Amino acid sequence: MRVDKDYIRAKQDRLTEQIITMPASTHILVTGGAGYIGSHTALALLQAGFDVTVIDNLSNSSDESLKRVARIAGKAPRFVKADIRDREQLNAVFGMQPVNAVIHFAGLKAVGESVQVPLRYYDNNVAGTLRLCEAMAEHGVFTLVFSSSATVYGDPATVPIREDQPLGTPTNPYGRSKLMIEQMLTDLAASDARWHVALLRYFNPVGAHESGLMGEDPNGIPNNLLPYIAQVAAGKLRELSVFGNDYPTADGTGVRDYIHVVDLAEGHLSALNALKARPGVSVWNLGTGQGYSVLEMIRAFELASGKTIPFRIAPRRAGDIAMCFADASRAEIELGWRARRRLKAMMEDTWRWQAGNPEGYRTKP
Ligand code: NAD
Ligand code: UDP
Repeated sequence: MRVDKDYIRAKQDRLTEQIITMPASTHILVTGGAGYIGSHTALALLQAGFDVTVIDNLSNSSDESLKRVARIAGKAPRFVKADIRDREQLNAVFGMQPVNAVIHFAGLKAVGESVQVPLRYYDNNVAGTLRLCEAMAEHGVFTLVFSSSATVYGDPATVPIREDQPLGTPTNPYGRSKLMIEQMLTDLAASDARWHVALLRYFNPVGAHESGLMGEDPNGIPNNLLPYIAQVAAGKLRELSVFGNDYPTADGTGVRDYIHVVDLAEGHLSALNALKARPGVSVWNLGTGQGYSVLEMIRAFELASGKTIPFRIAPRRAGDIAMCFADASRAEIELGWRARRRLKAMMEDTWRWQAGNPEGYRTKP
């Protein structure tokens, strides 16, 4: 057999070329990366070849989530237990290794609690973000992806909600803290052209990693619908209260746009990529564009789990709105991203996580 040495040499040259032109490892700092959405995003980043450092004070999470990330990814993110409001700790983190971009999840998110202790929310969320931006600028890092929320639309005049729709009045301090941060980041980017900022307005994140190793691990009794349903299915809670069946929706119960957490995580990578060519502030809804009612969610969960979910109709919950779902087309056009996982996968993955980890990350293997 004739060996074409020129052919092999040419092929080797091309290989060398490819290796040399591959970008050097990009290092992403993930604040709040031990939490629900942050841990799924840290996993997606590692799997895509990014170098990842997580900073988290573990106020609403445990580092077990990061151990699971390492188990699935085959490599661990660097973890620093620290508070984003602590300037010295932030400086130390930025000083360890050059950071290319920050994905900022760290924050408190319990709506009811924010009404009870508003200053804690403004301090943690607003002042925390302010400290983070100061440290970023000091260390020459100007790319930031921020976890905002559809709550900034308030009670929308029309659905599906487009990003250019007027912002509403959030009904609680948590929502107002998100709006304030959006405004602060917009002012910051307007003042200095080096900033590239993404405001990602999440709709309703649900679901879990398909491995059943990672998922949402609420502290105490869940506030959100799907973790509550999952705990009823597992027998930890007796019944679900459906908050109102007299809304102007098809079956009278509230309608939301539920998005699988893994789709959401992937949306962050797409936003990060798009930000390279986008100075200033970019705003993207991350939702599916499809709304489901509370009763539809119960039925879908029953189908996926084979369990019956006892429920009763209760009064409306203060501050709730009838309908909220995204116009998801801007993200599809500008990011080339769209949510791919359907309701069935959201339910099956939630149930796999709940059934396999009845005590969340505290479950002993
Ligand atoms: P989470 O509570 O699971 O994660 C937040 C993480 O931030 C936790 O691990 C917590 O320990 C950490 N943290 C909080 N304050 C901190 C501080 N000062 N310093 C360092 N770490 C701190 O919540 P999540 O559901 O993963 O949400 C992530 C982000 O997305 C939050 O900003 C939240 O407001 C936003 N968001 C969440 C939802 C949702 O329904 N889950 C919807 C819209 C927006
Ligand atoms: N919901 C409910 N019972 C619960 C929790 C939530 O009926 O125990 C309803 C709530 O009124 C809303 C929907 O489920 O219509 C989603 O609520 P969730 O708190 O998960 O998200 P958000 O209110 O932030 O959209």
